[in-house]
Amino acid sequence: MHPERHSLAREVQAFVERAADLLDISDQMRDLLRSPYRELQFELPLRGNNGHLREFRGFRVQHNQSRGPFKGGLRYHRDVNLDHFRALAETMTMKCALVDVPFGGAKGGINCDPSTLAANEREVLTKRFVERMGPLLGPGRDIPAPDMGTSSQEMAWILDAYTEDYGYQPAVVTGKPLQLGGSPGRASATGRGAMLLTAWVAEEHGIDLSQASIAIQGFGKVGRHAARLLAERGASIVAVSDSSGAVYNPAGLDVKKLFEAKENNRTRVADCGLDAEIIDGEELLYRDVDILIPAAIERVIHGDNCRRIRAKVIVEAANLPTTSDADLALEKAGTTVVPDILANAGGVVVSYLEYVQNHQRYRWEESRIHDELERKLAAAWQDVRGRATSDDVSYRTAAYEIACQRVAEAIELRGF
Ligand code: NAD
Repeated sequence: MHPERHSLAREVQAFVERAADLLDISDQMRDLLRSPYRELQFELPLRGNNGHLREFRGFRVQHNQSRGPFKGGLRYHRDVNLDHFRALAETMTMKCALVDVPFGGAKGGINCDPSTLAANEREVLTKRFVERMGPLLGPGRDIPAPDMGTSSQEMAWILDAYTEDYGYQPAVVTGKPLQLGGSPGRASATGRGAMLLTAWVAEEHGIDLSQASIAIQGFGKVGRHAARLLAERGASIVAVSDSSGAVYNPAGLDVKKLFEAKENNRTRVADCGLDAEIIDGEELLYRDVDILIPAAIERVIHGDNCRRIRAKVIVEAANLPTTSDADLALEKAGTTVVPDILANAGGVVVSYLEYVQNHQRYRWEESRIHDELERKLAAAWQDVRGRATSDDVSYRTAAYEIACQRVAEAIELRGF
């Protein structure tokens, strides 16, 4: 079956099931671990600048809050639906538990293409989203952050709309601009985390990072910082892509030029004037590289194409880039996968540090953020490595085992 026809939520459930099978967890607890606490879906009408009325839909799935308030990004994308957000919210619950930050899991967004909306239209939609969520948002309830199609600007609008009704509480949202209580280092945190995990897994597998070739799918907030930081560590980034296509140069791309062009002008990677071959976006996945970093959308590695992947190591900077059947096939083939709930957890770790700073009403130095981020991720990486060895399972199953156990313990302790 083509991967698009599968439910995305079923993919996450397969990962949870695999881990739960190895744990002493009752059937009732499995159901509690998987079922969302609350699902919201609402209309978001918008009178566009051209005078036409358009109707969008807003979504928020609040999956689990046993370890702390719901936490998760807001995605603005044409093709999102409730199933997407169910899967992504459950992933957030597991991610927060794995890296041991005191949050639960949520995810939401709007089914719009932000590139077709003017800034004032995005502002109205975002603020209407906050109105519809009402008291279900809040520093002790549910804390959004950026994801695909949203940025610190949307977070600033959320803060403004929330403040209007509930008073100034900057911890209602993370990934804010620095001027409004954002944290130093948050914009690059997910990419930095992916870089750290790439460096650690490379070392574990005897790959010298300064000699390694890397392909990165997606050059947005995550992919572009991962590329920049890996290049700074001497790795050769040989291919990158965005939704318009990919560029490839086996001798290495000029990442600095690419980063600056994307950051300043939002140019397509193919138009950045690089010394590189322009290739089809999907072809990037199959290039002969040491490490592949999917940093765009979900289900790009599936049962029909996973055998074409030549990289021996995959670091999942995107959420859910690998389907559960492809995951098993890759494991059998001896490909190492660093799972999303570890590889891209840098974002939520620094979101947590932003939340702490907001409560303290005090801004930390960027160096402190980098240190705390590295400390948290290194602890999670050691936990996952240890569990993978002791239980003779993949990093993904080990990560889910640890996360499921922590969430189940919290549910049990709180009672019913
Ligand atoms: P973004 O919107 O900033 O960038 C997405 C990038 O992916 C863009 O370059 C876009 O052109 C590209 N893209 C989209 N479809 C593509 C395709 N079919 N092929 C190749 N490239 C494609 O989003 P982001 O914040 O960088 O998020 C990327 C991924 O990382 C998502 O899966 C997101 O859930 C995950 N993630 C993001 C964060 C964060 O802090 N932003 C944290 C954890 C996980």
